[in-house]
Amino acid sequence: MITNETTFAIIKPDAVQDNIAGFIIYLIELNKFKILELKKVQLTRKEAEEFYDIHKDRPFFNELVEYMISGPVILMALERENAINAWRELMGATDPKNAAMGTIRKMFGKSIGSNATHGSDSPETAKRELGIFFPNLK
Ligand code: UDP
Ligand code: MG
Repeated sequence: MITNETTFAIIKPDAVQDNIAGFIIYLIELNKFKILELKKVQLTRKEAEEFYDIHKDRPFFNELVEYMISGPVILMALERENAINAWRELMGATDPKNAAMGTIRKMFGKSIGSNATHGSDSPETAKRELGIFFPNLK
C-alpha cells in the first residue's frame, strides 16, 4: 500500500525574484508531487524568526532572516509517497556547491544562504511548518 506524506516547501526570495518559480513548480509536478496548497506571500520579520527559530543561535540567523524577508516567497504543501525525503532529494544539499547534478539547488542556488528552496527535514518538522502556514490543512 502506498502511504502518502505531506511536506512543506518554500520557493525562496532569490528564486522568485529570478522568475524561476514556475520552472521549480514544473519540476515539482514532473516529480509527481500533488500541490495541496500554494500561496505567494511577503513574510514578516516575526514570521521568518519564528519559522527559523531552531537556528536562532547560529551565526547566520540574522542574515537568514533578512534574506527570507527580502522579497515575496511561495509557500506550498506538497503530497507524495515519501514526500519529505523526495522533496529534499529534488532540492539537493544545502550548499549548492555540494548539491548533486540535476537538483534545484545545483541549478539555481547561488550560495549556502541563497539556495532557492526550503523543505522540511522530518515528519515532526513538516507538521510544525505546515501548521504555521497552512493551519487549515487536513
Ligand atoms: N544557511 C546559511 N548558512 C549556513 C547554513 C544554512 O545561510 O551555514 C541558511 C540556508 O538558507 C539554509 C537555511 O539557513 O537553507 C536553513 O539551514 P539548514 O541547515 O536547515 O538547511 P536546509 O534544511 O535548508 O538544507
Ligand atoms: Mg533545515
